[in-house]
Parts: sequence; C-alpha cells; structure tokens
Amino acid sequence: MTSIVAVRTALASCSSEHVTLFTTLIDNGSLIPYKSRDNARRKFGLDTEYAALGKKQAPAALRKQHLAKELQDICLRDLPEAREYFGQQLTYFVSSGGTIDLERMGEEGAGTQTIASLTDTTLGGTDTIVTFPSRTLEKLVMKDYEAPTNCLRASGTTCTVLPTNAYIPLHHSNEGMTTRTLLSGSIVWIIWPSTPKNLRILQNAYEDFAQHFNDSRLDVTNTLEGGMIFVQTEGDGLRISPFTIMMCLSTKTSVLATYSDITAENYLSMLHKLPLLNAWFRTEFDGARKQSEFNAMVLLHLDLMLHGDPKNEERDRIKLSHVRGGLLDKLTKSWEVVKNDVAAILGAADHKTMIGIWVDYLIAAKGRECRLCGDSIMNKQKLMMDHFIERHWFKGKKDTEGVHTRQGLAQGLNEASTEATAQVQAAEEVDGGDAMELDG
Ligand SMILES: [Zn+2]
Repeated sequence: MTSIVAVRTALASCSSEHVTLFTTLIDNGSLIPYKSRDNARRKFGLDTEYAALGKKQAPAALRKQHLAKELQDICLRDLPEAREYFGQQLTYFVSSGGTIDLERMGEEGAGTQTIASLTDTTLGGTDTIVTFPSRTLEKLVMKDYEAPTNCLRASGTTCTVLPTNAYIPLHHSNEGMTTRTLLSGSIVWIIWPSTPKNLRILQNAYEDFAQHFNDSRLDVTNTLEGGMIFVQTEGDGLRISPFTIMMCLSTKTSVLATYSDITAENYLSMLHKLPLLNAWFRTEFDGARKQSEFNAMVLLHLDLMLHGDPKNEERDRIKLSHVRGGLLDKLTKSWEVVKNDVAAILGAADHKTMIGIWVDYLIAAKGRECRLCGDSIMNKQKLMMDHFIERHWFKGKKDTEGVHTRQGLAQGLNEASTEATAQVQAAEEVDGGDAMELDG
C-alpha cells in the first residue's frame, strides 16, 4: 500500500503513542509516497533505488499466505534451537515501549507472550519484539536464492516478531543489500536514502545518544531528506540498499523474515562509512562485541580480496583480479581516503594485522613500483613495511599486540558469522545435501 491515504488509514487503526511522530512528518510535507520514488531518486542524485517493495521482491517460497499457527510453530521450534546453538548472541528480546514487560515477566517470558499472541488475541498487550535466526525460514529463502556477483558473505535468515503497536526507532541497515519479507501483519515504514547529509545527521545523533543515552537524541527525523513512507502488507518483500536509514511501526502483530548479502562493491563503499559505524557501535548494548566481530570481518575480507585463499577454492573466488578500473583499482585508489578511518575503527590492537595484509600484497605484486602510490621501491619485506607505514598508514600511536591474527581470522569468521555457516549446515543436514555456499 503505497499512497499517503493508505498510510493514514493504517496509522488511524493504531493506538501507539508513536503514531504522532509519523503523522507529523506526513503533515509537514517532508515525506514522499512510495509511488513517487523515481522522482525522489533523481532529486537526490542516487544511482540506485533505496527501497523496492512488492511481492516480486520476496523470495518465492515466502510469498504465499502464512497461517498464524504455522508461523507460531516455526517460532516455537526455531527459537529454542537458536538459543541453544548461539547462546545469548543473535537472539534478542527488545521492549519497544518501556520496561513494563521485562519487569513483569522477564525477557524470555515477554518474548514468549509475543509469540503466543500470534494466535491468541485475548492475551493482552505485550511490547516485546523477538528476533532470532530461523532455520526453517532460512531453508525457504535458500530454495531459490542466487548469490550476487562478488558475494563476500550472506547473513542467515532471521525471524522478527513484532507485537501490535511496536515501534522501532531510527536505525540504519547494514552494509549489504537487505530483504525483509512480511509473512504476517502490517508495518508502516519510513525510509531515508543514505545521502551524505543524512548519514552525517545520523552519525551526530548516534554520537549524541552515546553520550546521554536519551532516546530524544535520536529524534532527528524532521531534518533528514528524501524520506519515503509506505505500508508493507502480507507477502510484500522490501529490498533495502546499504546504509538505508529507517524506522517503523507495526499496526498488527507482524512477522518478518530478513536476510542480507554483502558484495565486494558493498565492502568498498562501506569503507567510506566507517565513522558512522564507529559512532553506532557506541550506542549498542553489546557494541564492543559487535565491533570486534566487525573488525575481524573487515580484516578477513580484505585479506581474501587481496590474497584469496588457495586452500579453499570457493574463497579464492573472492580474490580481486588486476583489471584497469576494476574493484582492485578502486580499492587501492580509495585507500588514502579511508586509511585513517580504518585505523580508527580497528583500534591499535588490530593495526599489525592490517599492515601485514597490505605489505604482503605490495610485495606479491612483484614490481619495482608501489601499487598504492607508484613510487619506486625495493621489493623487500623490511623496505616495503617501512614505506607502507610511512606513506600509507595513519600517523599515531603504534601498538603491536594483536587481537585478530590473520591465522585466526578464518576461525574468527566462523564464530562471527555463524549466522550464515550454521544456518547452511543446518539446512544441509535437513536436506541431505544441496549445498549452497554462502560466506564465500
Ligand atoms: Zn606507496
């Protein structure tokens, strides 16, 4: 449902206190209806759509009607399994309206009630949103999944259950393409493109929030540009481009299936957004762990893109080849611009690993010229190392203690992105084969 009238109707049926935030933005004329997205795209100089909505965007196996009972069964089967497999990670119970549920029932109790309310409407309100990796939904998504070209990794599929009137405040989507399919319910979304202006505003809001931990600090929606509003209804897939800014409100109990994939192109443009991520990690409850996993991913994927992994044919596929104007060219050309941000997000502890990855690449390039700047340089480990640190690395405190070693990275990836690997393994076990390589 993509007209302003349809959005107003959906909001009118909703008793959340947050409705006002949505209607105010409509009333002051700062939002574009989904129908007019092409005009908006041109106006903001975007080369891709920032959001695409409809049945066609959903994986085929998820488009069909889902009975509430069926979805509830999936939750009751997959949630405890995910909890057992991943521990506290990747399974979240988030209260969207304060702490009422959590105080009364504890987080798991509140989450259980949200799931129960899928079929039992007499249960009374809960405000807890439940998110967990779902093996069943992953299997359905994988039925007709085709990895994009240069895919570095795909996340597994998560299931999110939102009770009626659940509000998810302003946040950004990850560095890849994300698909969210609504299996049941109705959700009003406002989505903003990742223009430089919008990302700057969001970064400031995150920095402000991290200092004060006050929700009102995230209330910058009236300053963002290019906001688009629409209602996602059952069976609709929503494809969102990297770093899209969004917020939403469920007007019915809703179930979402979400997955994303990250390509080498996404990785390169992500390197330009590191200050935003650095600010965001500081707003997150378990930000330090998330940042550490993210850093391991930054190092591993750069290592694989520059060196490949001869021991693993699939991973060697990620290695970028030297083509004029190709991705490797883009990476080396943008390094000077992003190196300080990379150093800042890695923290001193991972600098040695990053330096090692680059120096090995420069030496393996086997020329008398540095591949980054073109200067003549003897192709010797020590000289190349000195040259890299002098010319191509940030100037600041040196620390040689490593948190993520290169040898440890592959192992680290298995732990960090178990979403992908574990889900695929699980799917394979059930299917008895039909392997789909996900994480490159
Ligand atoms: Zn150089």
